[in-house]
Amino acid sequence: MKTFTEMMRRNHEQVVFGYDKESGLRAIIAIHNTTLGPALGGTRMWPYKSEAEALNDVLRLSRGMTYKAAVAGLNLGGGKGVIIGDPQTDKNEILFRAYGRLVEGLGGRYITAEDVGTDVRDMEWVRAETTFVTGISEALGGSGDPSPVTARGVYHGMKACTEEVFGTDRLKGLRVALQGLGHVGMHLAEFLHKEGAKLYVTDIHQDRVRAAVERFGAEAVEPDKIYEVEAEIFAPCALGAIINDETLAKFKFKIIAGAANNQLQDEKKHGQAVKELGILYAPDYVINAGGLINVANEIEGYNRERALTQAEGIYYNVKKVLQVAKDEDIPTHVAANRIAERRIEEVGRLRRKFITARPLRYRGGRIVDNSW
Ligand code: NAD
Repeated sequence: MKTFTEMMRRNHEQVVFGYDKESGLRAIIAIHNTTLGPALGGTRMWPYKSEAEALNDVLRLSRGMTYKAAVAGLNLGGGKGVIIGDPQTDKNEILFRAYGRLVEGLGGRYITAEDVGTDVRDMEWVRAETTFVTGISEALGGSGDPSPVTARGVYHGMKACTEEVFGTDRLKGLRVALQGLGHVGMHLAEFLHKEGAKLYVTDIHQDRVRAAVERFGAEAVEPDKIYEVEAEIFAPCALGAIINDETLAKFKFKIIAGAANNQLQDEKKHGQAVKELGILYAPDYVINAGGLINVANEIEGYNRERALTQAEGIYYNVKKVLQVAKDEDIPTHVAANRIAERRIEEVGRLRRKFITARPLRYRGGRIVDNSW
């Protein structure tokens, strides 16, 4: 894989490779765009089969973070880190501290967090070497589990969708097919039940399904039958690529609004297909941004109430996406991308105006920085 060719194709600012002989660290950090602020994104640890696969993943994911932060209205750019290794067997303190030093070396241009294959404990090791890390435990002043915030964001985003389709943001009496009763799904089920929605739930773990049946009066559905449930809303909170040729043929839903990442199997094809079928799809990265909002709050000193209130603002973010999609007659995921690109463009343009002179910085009697 040609690194510069790939950077140019996706318009990345910077890619950093880190290696440490003693700990065996092999890491790549990709900074996609810092127009809006420092690049924030988690660090994934994965046994990539090749360096090319790791590079491709970090470039793809960091670009996604730029769009997600921009639509969420955050003053953050997009970045991501990957550590090549098996999270089951290759983790140790020195590896994550070495990674922390790599992050520190970027001087705050990149802020990390946990992601697939990394957890709160790993981030605490990272934190021993850098302050540019979020998603640490509540005991250490961090934000803890982001899932309740994500669920709240999905719940309010869903209301924006029902308002568009049914003319009301009240979910009472509506039927929701909920796939995945994990960290986000169970919290979402609680919100929906409290408001009087009828729930149809599925999970591969039967104990979770039983819990939802008991707590929320939900109806249990087999995992492969969830796509054909007669319901107004489908809330995918488990897997990616669940909007595809096969599932679309079964959908009777009017709205797709859930937390799962990468819901469209083929962005272009299935994004267009939902539009043509008249199904309102809330773009995943817009409606599930509560987790990002949560860790972003940690940067300024964490306050749960503020994070939850900001996550409720996802209602307006989804509304804006739906409006642009309507005005420009485009699929909703394209509308979301356009909103992100326009915000980055406008803020970037603004920052080239009203420039103030920075004081000259001297070292050893010589000017070392006279940039504007
Ligand atoms: P989780 O692992 O806690 O929950 C996922 C649930 O889905 C589990 O209960 C699992 O058993 C179930 N599941 C897996 N395969 C299934 C299948 N075939 N059919 C039915 N259920 C199945 O994950 P989570 O943290 O709740 O996240 C859910 C989704 O939302 C993921 O795609 C995640 O990437 C995305 N997301 C999560 C957050 C967050 O704050 N946790 C933020 C943004 C996006």
